[in-house]
Amino acid sequence: MSIELNEVKRREKGLKIINQKIKDEGVDSLIDLTGLAGGFDITSEDISLLETYAGPAVFDERIQKLGIEHMGGEKILPLNRTTSGIVATIIALVKPGTKIVHYLAKEPAHPSIPRTAKLVGAKYEEYTNIDDVLIDEDTTLVVITGTTMDLEVISEDAFRCVIDMAHKKDIPVFVDDASGARIRRAVYNQPTAIDLGADLSVTSTDKLMEGPRGGLMAGSEELIDEIKLVVNQYGLEAQAPLVAGMVKALEKYSPELIQEAFKEKDQLYDKLLDLKLNPQTTPTGFMFKNNNIKEELIKRGANIDVDGDIVATVYSILLLEQYNIITIPAVGMPGASKTVRIDWSAKDSSKISMDELITAINKTFDNVVEVCNNNCLESVLYE
Ligand SMILES: *Cc1c(COP(=O)(O)O)cnc(C)c1O
Repeated sequence: MSIELNEVKRREKGLKIINQKIKDEGVDSLIDLTGLAGGFDITSEDISLLETYAGPAVFDERIQKLGIEHMGGEKILPLNRTTSGIVATIIALVKPGTKIVHYLAKEPAHPSIPRTAKLVGAKYEEYTNIDDVLIDEDTTLVVITGTTMDLEVISEDAFRCVIDMAHKKDIPVFVDDASGARIRRAVYNQPTAIDLGADLSVTSTDKLMEGPRGGLMAGSEELIDEIKLVVNQYGLEAQAPLVAGMVKALEKYSPELIQEAFKEKDQLYDKLLDLKLNPQTTPTGFMFKNNNIKEELIKRGANIDVDGDIVATVYSILLLEQYNIITIPAVGMPGASKTVRIDWSAKDSSKISMDELITAINKTFDNVVEVCNNNCLESVLYE
């Protein structure tokens, strides 16, 4: 059997299931444990403001104050996405033929960083071992990832060390703190990237906080203005409605849900181990990488001749279909990682008990085995 994972069609299938569930059982029946909340908690008063030219002015003032409290720095730049901030920073600060040095706790890096390096004709070097980091005369930008897409967290020592190395050579430091701005702070008590000495930092307003998908950058007024120019030239800024949603999310944000999940995740982990499952922990939950899923399915007697991405996606779709639990592979953008990650700090975690979740996770493995052995992978993905 050969089936190609058509990611665009696969995402349509995931969204179709969600839409049907909303029609049949109501939106509250869904349990979103992706950790990507997409909250948009604006009031009718906010909407009337947005209908006037006053809106952008009002929300820009509020985002400046709340953003600086959350991230540090002198000035805040709201963006359409975190990716927009990464792209604009590299276009603004990196000249062709020069080099970007990137330090992160563990691969993979967010693809927008090497992709934009290529776009501007810059060299790109990535390090995961602090002793190997080489910042030479060619380098025009040092990037640090605070917390990776798989929630691997940088140590504070490594953080300070890389900033120090860059600043000795007068090279600016830009931090991709998409979820790090909360995970690093709430769980590991680390300072903001700016307080650690970074020149610029960007975070995602939908990661571990109840905001819309968007990006928020902080830094010195001078650097932010330089990047803002590029952001406006390329149309990468957040529009006023998005900024209004970010303001609400920052007003509501509290680190408690993250801190509770950090404590409870060990219990979840132990319950999974009791079932002889083999998950990896994250700061606020657990995850199965695509190949861990494939291994578990084979252990349970599945005949599989497709790769891990496909069975991980089938797993995520069945978890959604049968238990209403949303994880990223069923609904993520094409190219997103096919890791099934459960974020116990998601607000929907209050809709399900630990034991119900563990049962759903365990039973879904059996359900995927059945689908594999009945040659039904294709119909689960596309029909
Ligand atoms: C999520 C993430 C991004 C990109 O965020 P978008 O909202 O998708 O643009 C970049 N870097 C890291 C480390 C991330 O986790």
